[in-house]
Amino acid sequence: MITLGGQILQSEPEGYATIRPGVVEIAEGRIVGVEFGQVSNRVDHGGPDALICPGFIDTHLHLPQFDSIGAAGMRLLPWLKDVIFPAEQRWNDLDFAKSMIDRVARQCLGVGTTGVCAYATVNHEATIAALTAFRDIGFRGVIGQVMMDRDAPPPLLRPRGQLIDEVSRTLDQFPPDRPMAAAVTPRFALSCSEALLEDAGRLAASYDAIVQTHLAETVAECDAVGKRFGGRDYVNVYACAALLTPRSILGHGIHLDSQSQDRLARCGSIIAHCPTANSFLGSGTMNRHSHLSHGIPLTLGSDIGAGFERSMVRVGRAMIEAAMRISLAAGHGVDDQVRIPSAAEAWHQITAGNAAALRWNDVGRIAVDQRADLLVIRPDIAWLDSRQPLATLMFAWDDRWIETTILEGRVRFCSA
Ligand SMILES: [Zn+2]
Repeated sequence: MITLGGQILQSEPEGYATIRPGVVEIAEGRIVGVEFGQVSNRVDHGGPDALICPGFIDTHLHLPQFDSIGAAGMRLLPWLKDVIFPAEQRWNDLDFAKSMIDRVARQCLGVGTTGVCAYATVNHEATIAALTAFRDIGFRGVIGQVMMDRDAPPPLLRPRGQLIDEVSRTLDQFPPDRPMAAAVTPRFALSCSEALLEDAGRLAASYDAIVQTHLAETVAECDAVGKRFGGRDYVNVYACAALLTPRSILGHGIHLDSQSQDRLARCGSIIAHCPTANSFLGSGTMNRHSHLSHGIPLTLGSDIGAGFERSMVRVGRAMIEAAMRISLAAGHGVDDQVRIPSAAEAWHQITAGNAAALRWNDVGRIAVDQRADLLVIRPDIAWLDSRQPLATLMFAWDDRWIETTILEGRVRFCSA
């Protein structure tokens, strides 16, 4: 049995987080007890001033892009061609891919990310290596072999039949009901033939797998999709390929009209909001309030390497800032509590909120029977004296405060 003591982050059903002092007990990879009340110093980890928090869930990131963060001054499509495709080509060298996978996993643990919805590359062996490494460390989530059969450099293209065969094998080896599973991951409409999109949709249906792709990130991309697919709008292209399911995670979703929003809501497909990536590439600002009003489930993701923040806390902060920009531009002001999420809502989003949208019922909350994917955070500021401790933590955030990252009850990162 391991005990963690401190301020326990609790997610309320209304969609925000609170803190209460108490002790969390862990055994055999699960939370077996949560007792609220006085925290003594006789716990294994933490103490009265520590925050005990569920591990963060990053619902959109690219493992091969961690070395590409910060390639500034480019828009999406040229950035893909000049920065990202060369980086992803390096994963065709399996030794390089494996060493990078280890580095990336360590970085995730160091910033408190314990759940991922990640893209690998088109390389099958490298994707299996990533799934194996992340599973063995104890991460929760999905990783997908990227599917591309057009409009990328030849070393990153695969024939459609080969892609379907390889991705089927990743799904056999890492089935969707496992804590670390394969996902069906056509990169985006422009890098896939229509036949590949349709095959990917069929494959996802036959395994009931998570689908990952990108949607409506930039205006130029939407225009190119319209031209390529005979004037059809972007959401319709994916709908025709049966890629819009309640298990589909669509990165970005910035440039969508009301009709597309309604359609996504009817399909129950999830938009992964990636505010840091959107500001970095100058893609636009997603209107969170508008999507939520239409009934679209939202998650939050770093989208590394367009996103420049590894820390989901800082991505949470960027979500607040993006909503504030939208509210200001629309003349609603900076005090609009309907349109601008609070820090308490952002803490909820990066933990229980992301888990709930993904229907991961075993993580994201601190409660008995949840997986013990937990963080012990020890801020070096007097955060509990603040009027809004969770806002103070989020806006003053320092990754060095993460003292311990625990996956399935095992300490996988320790700053000391
Ligand atoms: Zn992405």
